[in-house]
Amino acid sequence: MNITLRPNNLDAFWMPYTANRSFKASPRLLARAEGVFYYTPEGREVLDGTAGLWCVNAGHGRREIAEAIKAQADVMDFAPTFQMGHPIAFEAAARLAEFTPDGLDRIFFTNSGSESADTALKIALAYHRARGEGQRVRLVGRERGYHGCGFGGMSVGGIVANRRQFGAQLPFVDHLPHTHLPEKNRFARGEPEHGAHLADALEDLVKLHGDTIAAVIVEPVAGSTGVLVPPKGYLRRLRELCTRHGILLIFDEVITGFSRLGAGFAAEHFGVLPDIITMAKGLTNAAVPMGAVAVTREVYETVLEGSPGGIEFFHGYTYSGHPLAAAAAIASIRIHQEEDLAGRVRDLAPYWQEAAHSLRGAPFVTDIRDCGLIAGVELEPVKDRPTERGMRVLQRCFDDGLLVRVTGDIVALSPPLTIERRHVDRIFDTLDRALRKEA
Ligand code: PLP
Repeated sequence: MNITLRPNNLDAFWMPYTANRSFKASPRLLARAEGVFYYTPEGREVLDGTAGLWCVNAGHGRREIAEAIKAQADVMDFAPTFQMGHPIAFEAAARLAEFTPDGLDRIFFTNSGSESADTALKIALAYHRARGEGQRVRLVGRERGYHGCGFGGMSVGGIVANRRQFGAQLPFVDHLPHTHLPEKNRFARGEPEHGAHLADALEDLVKLHGDTIAAVIVEPVAGSTGVLVPPKGYLRRLRELCTRHGILLIFDEVITGFSRLGAGFAAEHFGVLPDIITMAKGLTNAAVPMGAVAVTREVYETVLEGSPGGIEFFHGYTYSGHPLAAAAAIASIRIHQEEDLAGRVRDLAPYWQEAAHSLRGAPFVTDIRDCGLIAGVELEPVKDRPTERGMRVLQRCFDDGLLVRVTGDIVALSPPLTIERRHVDRIFDTLDRALRKEA
């Protein structure tokens, strides 16, 4: 079978987060990838403006990763990590613990960002129970947050469309206000000036709920709802309030981790250390699904010591620490370290920022936001038809050789970190052309 051929039957695959009917009427297919490019089944080059789905941070087709996966597959395809172990899973955890911010060096493996979010929430609950504070069962997310699509992540998430189709949500969940203040921060470069005070909403929740809050989970930069960069001082304030009130702070770094902002993790970029970090995507450069949760030693030891003996944490996945994923993770982390991808981002970020903000004044652009190698370009929606303009721009860019992601009418850009200046120019020139055709 030639798997690069266009499939002649698109019916069987129920596509995730996709308008299946319109997609299948007019499919956009990607068949091959190399470096910062995808290729369609017809061989047309498409510049990857989104690193796949915020995940192929080290660029496509990394031989080191493919070879590591193959070598491991030849040695051992699978072994359980329940009551058993295999060396490469321990090795992957040790390498990851070196890469995560100092102090967060105990690693729980999952298979995705969604599983990482649910795992982190359960760790927080288990931690408080182990400390004799089992009344702390309340979980706090944030409006416009995305933490995947498990029941936990969905419930603490703050995307209305992801929740309203499903009546049952986790109980005991609250949401902080989002930090998007366009009237004050429009066209801000990097962290906006206004909005740190929005963290104080946690004080109000503490007044309401007393000592029943277990954890606060936020994305340091909210990606899925259109690149919302934290206002200056916001994350620090959230950290202080969590510490003051005995609440664990979880950073969901599924998109901000793995050098995206110019440091290994956003926690380092913003200089704010949470108690728990969730990650996935860039961990294996997306070559094999894998997620992870990094926790402080205190969290780990508390959960262990809170148990009378036997299994300390009744949670885990068949594929936690899967050998092929572990091999991919080790190879991916090595690339980040040896090629200093974070340093690359720091060097390129000013150029990226300038290029992104050059779209100010282009038709229908109402705001531009950026952080590290992420940018969000917000467009004025077509009257009474939200998302229509966004989808049209996505299609025009794709036809013109650029993959972008749209969330509603916001174009989100997050290229592989191996991108060069000429690719940056091409991204924003193509988007500019697509917008001018809208006018
Ligand atoms: N958390 C964040 C911040 C994400 O951006 C995503 C996916 O985009 C997830 C969690 C879910 O990850 P996954 O799709 O691997 O379950």
